[in-house]
Amino acid sequence: MLSQTLYFENIILMTATGPKDGSLRLKGDKIAALNSPPGQKDRIIDGGGGLLIPGLINAHDHLELNTFKRLKYRERYTHSRQWIEDIEARFETDPDLTGPRRQSLTDRLLVGALKNLLCGVTTVCHHNPLHKPLRHDYPVRVVKNYGFCHSLFRGDDVVTSYHRTKAGDPWIIHLAEGIEIEAEAKTEFEQLVQLGVLQPNTVLVHGVGLTSPQRQSLIERGGGLIWCPGSNHFLFGQTARVGELAEAGKLALGSDSRLSGEFDLLAELKVAHQAGQLLPQALFRAVTEDAARILRLREVGLGRVAEGGMADLVLLPPPIPPDPFVRLLEVTRAQIELVMLGGRPLVGSPRLQPVFEATKTQFVPVCLDGVEKLMSQKLAMRTKKASVQEPGLTVQ
Ligand SMILES: [Zn+2]
Repeated sequence: MLSQTLYFENIILMTATGPKDGSLRLKGDKIAALNSPPGQKDRIIDGGGGLLIPGLINAHDHLELNTFKRLKYRERYTHSRQWIEDIEARFETDPDLTGPRRQSLTDRLLVGALKNLLCGVTTVCHHNPLHKPLRHDYPVRVVKNYGFCHSLFRGDDVVTSYHRTKAGDPWIIHLAEGIEIEAEAKTEFEQLVQLGVLQPNTVLVHGVGLTSPQRQSLIERGGGLIWCPGSNHFLFGQTARVGELAEAGKLALGSDSRLSGEFDLLAELKVAHQAGQLLPQALFRAVTEDAARILRLREVGLGRVAEGGMADLVLLPPPIPPDPFVRLLEVTRAQIELVMLGGRPLVGSPRLQPVFEATKTQFVPVCLDGVEKLMSQKLAMRTKKASVQEPGLTVQ
């Protein structure tokens, strides 16, 4: 039997331009209409006065590295190269590295999916090869059309990597992941320019060591920056300057993996806010529509609540503060009322059981950070079978 059309009422629709009281009609995997009357057979869902936002976009993660603890071997680094060397030197000896490395790739990737989904992320840009489990039936939407290179000092040849990437896809590289006074971090940008690979589809990750003229040049060349302040603070005690990039719509936010980054994208948003550079609305754009544009996402409507767009949606409960964008910065993952991917509920509050029923999604109760939730049965069973678990999540 086909799933019923859902009609969310008593909600505030959140777009990058601001909030609007309204309703949303959801049919199949798409948003059928905004602020229109319900159809006769629609299943009416009471949004409880909550804020309906687009599913969040995490622009940078290494999905297989989220079962590791946050690790470093010096108080402060000046360049990420030193951190990577420290890690590699201990690959076979430090139990914090050898343990997770023995876990199956599939199970580690499942934790990566849960880390993101449970905090409202529905699209992730993974930085590494698109491993097989990511290509089919992975619980979170993963960006599939991209090119990447680790960095100038590691991974594939930069020029080859860039030219292998289709012109319409983003090409993503860790760059200037070190402090500005560090000569290496500072010169990396010029090296990209000289190699001819600083193009409109070039997306830099980190950019801690970028100088002000370099950031300006990045904007003028049409590229973008993925900001990971949590990881940067952990390794370097400082982060990139991102005000002008955000203003130009050229900034996305990424959590990075738990090996250096925050627990999840909600935690990352809090750290980003504490950095004091951007207003809540600019942070919202960096995890929604600006991220969708920078990553050149092909599915219509990702990062927006738009008619005809993909129904990747997240419902945040009230109270809605005077600046509604602040809500995303204070909410916890256990408070999130609903996470939907392509019109399918994956996790939600028990009061939203009708959403699972109307979409013919079998569900089971789970416990998230001490709060009862419903989870799609398929996802819960996969979780239960895995050899490694997402912290805070219990499947009965
Ligand atoms: Zn990274």
